[in-house]
Order: sequence, then structure tokens, then C-alpha cells
Amino acid sequence: MAADEKSKLSDEQIEFQEYARNWLADNAPPPPPVRLPITAIEVMTVEQRDYLQAWQKKCYEAGLVGCDIPKEYGGGGREGCQRIANQEMSRAGVPFLINIIGLSMAVPTILVHGTEEQKKKFIPPALSGEEIWCQGFSEPGAGSDMANQQTFAEKRGDEWIVNGHKVWTSLGHFAKWMILIARTSRDHKYDGLSYFLCPIAGHEGVTVRPLVKMTGETGFNEVLFQDAVVHDSLRLDEVGKGWTVAMTTLTYERGASEGAGSGGGEKVHPIQHLIQLAKSTKRESGTAADDPVIRDRIVQQAIVSEAMRQSQRRARVEALCDHPMRIPLQGKVTVTEFIQDNARLGVDIAGAASTLYKLDPNAPDAGHWPLAYMNSYGNTIAAGTNEIQRNILGERVLGMAKSK
Ligand SMILES: Cc1cc2nc3c(=O)[nH]c(=O)nc-3n(C[C@H](O)[C@H](O)[C@H](O)COP(=O)(O)OP(=O)(O)OC[C@H]3O[C@@H](n4cnc5c(N)ncnc54)[C@H](O)[C@@H]3O)c2cc1C
Repeated sequence: MAADEKSKLSDEQIEFQEYARNWLADNAPPPPPVRLPITAIEVMTVEQRDYLQAWQKKCYEAGLVGCDIPKEYGGGGREGCQRIANQEMSRAGVPFLINIIGLSMAVPTILVHGTEEQKKKFIPPALSGEEIWCQGFSEPGAGSDMANQQTFAEKRGDEWIVNGHKVWTSLGHFAKWMILIARTSRDHKYDGLSYFLCPIAGHEGVTVRPLVKMTGETGFNEVLFQDAVVHDSLRLDEVGKGWTVAMTTLTYERGASEGAGSGGGEKVHPIQHLIQLAKSTKRESGTAADDPVIRDRIVQQAIVSEAMRQSQRRARVEALCDHPMRIPLQGKVTVTEFIQDNARLGVDIAGAASTLYKLDPNAPDAGHWPLAYMNSYGNTIAAGTNEIQRNILGERVLGMAKSK
């Protein structure tokens, strides 16, 4: 963190930052027993899950997860400290927190819309990572057109009987709970939706089937509901308010706030990785780092990286934020396209060697670049495609005419 940014932190935040930095330096996790994927949404095996769950629990117990959540719901009761914890975890290069959907979507949504009982029941085990969450928004016919939900929940007494088909459900195979949107009335499109906290693992009438990606990973799934029973106490907010609740979730998913934790994973200085790769990649004469085209492309990436950093700083200055969604939406588009360009550049620098994949001992950086390149396409689709984000930016932030 630059000195001018540090000077804007409160005494409590500066103290917390030092604590987090020291704790992470003293408590680096042991090397994983198995190779970890690039992000939480590609976690595939029980070994990966167990290792990452243990790490999240340790971070939670140390106070680095749920820092800003009120103490009565298992959080740290601090203010403005989660961003610092996330930054320090990324800076330390520690593994990511596995319960990413719980932390960045379920917990903030439950905090806004949940009853006291729901907050006390669901938030603490989501923070510790004991209960993993998944998100059941997308369906085969409802992706960008999210309001076209066909999964139906029919009320019978105190229970809802759910039937339908969700798809692209990241972490569904390890999830105890799902944030689920279902149609509860066919008479209204938006007002006919309701939002549930739905049991998944071992729940009767729920089938989770892995979907294999081109990388060979099975991080996401399809989830089928066949007369699955969900008690009415698991409904979040009022019947027919599902669209409004889902908008809260999407606001957090698209990065409008820190949520309850998201540290680790992506390195803070990916540009350094590209420079190291260029220096270690031999060419006919010298290395890839001597190639002026490669040097220029790395510099272009460095410029974008710095612009993104400045944009994030701007998000914290109220007077510079004319519309609350401008920086988060812009950030989603630029960050995901930056990650894609970075991975593409890594593959180009490695050249023919980038065809060597994960298990090949000769693969540069243990096969990271081709894996990152293939996975990077998911980033521009997940959480609403970048085309849709551009539409929203144009229409709602810039006030342009509505697209057809
Ligand atoms: C890695 C990954 C993880 C995901 N995890 C989850 C998850 O955990 N839970 C979950 O519910 N969903 C998840 N998704 C699903 C994701 O939210 C959807 O894929 C996304 O919303 C797009 O929907 P779709 O795939 O149905 O594409 P479609 O909506 O069919 O879009 C197809 C193409 O048409 C374009 N398009 C559509 N409408 C417009 C328009 N009006 N203007 C311009 N272009 C348009 C889109 O941009 C896209 O390029 C995940 C997706 C990915 C890639």
C-alpha cells in the first residue's frame, strides 16, 4: 500500500494491517499435498477442499475473515478492515479462501435481507469455511436473461416443493447450501421470483452432476431438483422479492464491496511473473525479454495494471464516484480482460513450450500459463458476461439509449 493511501487509514486500520501482515508472515500454510487450482471455482478434489477449508478456518480464527461483520454473527466487528485483510492475503501469496461464494455473496446478502435467526445460523459457519455455499442462479435458458427462471417452488403448508435445473454451479459438488432463485408465480416475470437458502449436500431430491471443462477440471456442475423440500424458514425476504434480493447478491458478486473475505489467489504483481517468464525463456539469441515486441506488450499490461489500481483508489473517494455502480462494473470488465490478456501474453512468451501442460515436468511455471489462458475465458462470462456489463454501464451509468 502506497504511503499516501496508508496515511488515510485510521489508527485501528494501521494496527490491523500490521497485525495481518505479521500473522501471515508467521503462519504461512504448509505446502499443499496436491496441486491447487488457480481459483476457488475450480476446486475439484476432496484433498484440495480439505486443505483449503483448513486454511480458511485458520484465517478466520486469526480474524482475517469476516473482519467487518458484526460480532454477534461471528465476525470481527471492525470497520473497513476486510479490504486490508484481502490485500494482505494477496500480497503474501497465500492460498485463496475456498468459500468464495459464501463470503462474497451469501453472507452479504443474508446480512441485508435475512432474519436475526438466519444471520446467526448461516453466517458463522460460512465465515469459518465449515459450510460451503454455491449459487443457483443460472439455468439452461436463464443466463444473461436471469429473470427467465423456470425452476419452480410450489408452496405446500410450511414447505416449498422445488423442481428445476440449475447449471454452471461452481462448488456445487462440495456445497452444503445454495443461494437459490426460483419462480413462485408464473403470473409475473420479476415479482414471481423468490430467494431461498437451499440445502444441497445429501438433501433428498437434489442431484449434483459435475461438468468437465476443456482444462479437464470439474469445478462447476449442473444441479437438478426433483420434488426437493425446502422449509419456509429458509426463504430469504418476502415471497416475490427474489429479484430484489438477487440484485443485492449481484452487486456484491460484481465487486461493489469487499464482502466478508476474498484474499489470496491472484498475485498482486502478475506483471513480475511475466517479466520473470520472459527472462527465463530462451530465444535464438538471448531471451524473450530482449524482444522489443514482448517488452512493449509487458509495458502495456503494466500500464493497465496501474490504471486499475488507481481506479480502485478512486472508488474510495466519494466525491469521485458519481454513480455507485460505475467503478465496480468497469472494474469487472477491465480486471477480467486484463487477466485474459496477461494469460495470453504468458502463452505467447513461452511459445511452443506453452503447449506443455500441467503434468509435464518441462512445462514453464508448472503449466500455469495454458491453464490460466483457458480458464481466463470463464472470467469474462461469470458474474454476468462483459457484454451485459457494458450494456448496463451504457444504459444505467452513462444514460445511453436502451439496447434491444
Ligand atoms: C467460470 C464460470 C463460473 C460460473 N459460476 C456460476 C455459479 O456458480 N452459479 C451460477 O448461477 N452461474 C454461474 N455461471 C454462469 C454465468 O453466470 C452465465 O454463464 C452468464 O450469466 C451467461 O449466461 P449464459 O451462459 O446462459 O450465456 P447467454 O446468456 O446465453 O449469452 C450468450 C452470449 O450472448 C451474449 N448476450 C446475451 N444477451 C445479450 C445482450 N442483451 N446484449 C449483448 N450480448 C448479449 C452474451 O454476452 C454471451 O456472449 C458461471 C459461469 C462461468 C463461466
